[in-house]
Amino acid sequence: MKREYAVIGLGQFGGSVCRELSEEGMDVLAIDLLESKVSEFRNIASHAVIADSTDEKVLKELGIRNIDHVIVAIGEDIQASILTTLILKEFGIKKVTAKAQNNYHEKVLVKIGADQVIHPERDMGRKIARSIISNNFLDHLELSDDHSIIEIQASNKMIGRTLVDLDIRVNYGCNVVAIKSNATNEMNISPLATDEIESGDILIIIGADKDISRLEKKLVIDD
Ligand code: ATP
Repeated sequence: MKREYAVIGLGQFGGSVCRELSEEGMDVLAIDLLESKVSEFRNIASHAVIADSTDEKVLKELGIRNIDHVIVAIGEDIQASILTTLILKEFGIKKVTAKAQNNYHEKVLVKIGADQVIHPERDMGRKIARSIISNNFLDHLELSDDHSIIEIQASNKMIGRTLVDLDIRVNYGCNVVAIKSNATNEMNISPLATDEIESGDILIIIGADKDISRLEKKLVIDD
């Protein structure tokens, strides 16, 4: 089913959310105060309108109450971001994602009912720092502040051994959720304890960041 979204604030962040959702075929209502921003998105979003999202009446007229998920991507004007989020939650919108400028802003957004608060700059900074620290991860997906999924190339300590030999769950508290085989190029998404790891395989592992670091140190760095 085609889901309906609205993106309020078409800056760098809101603009790229709007673009991605539209490219994925979603129905997107794009809103900004500025004509220049709105005209940029006329051919991208399903609808693009100039509006002040702190104006309750205008939001009502736009039919925003029928939208499943609204992304509030107003940055600098913290007051407008808070007021917009408050109006949207009062309208009963199921999911409101709001962008926070700082920790105080985040606290207020959570208090007034934002369902998801994101700090794109902070989160990207963390992700980049982690990838700089660990050259061993092919990819790194942050699940929460302290849990991730990582992709790692099989190290010498892993090659020729089975998952039960390595006992990653018991030894490191992490789970190998999939193995991409170098030989067949196929993704084994429910590896068995008896599956043997071969040279060039890629392991996809989920766990707490501290456990992943331990595993990395023992099985990869000290290899
Ligand atoms: P980014 O870093 O994502 O570019 P930012 O954090 O610098 O954004 P702003 O540029 O302050 O955020 O805001 C993003 C957009 O939100 C701007 O295009 C701005 O015109 C729009 N905006 C600000 N206030 C409102 C409002 N009340 N209603 C609708 N749009 C608004």
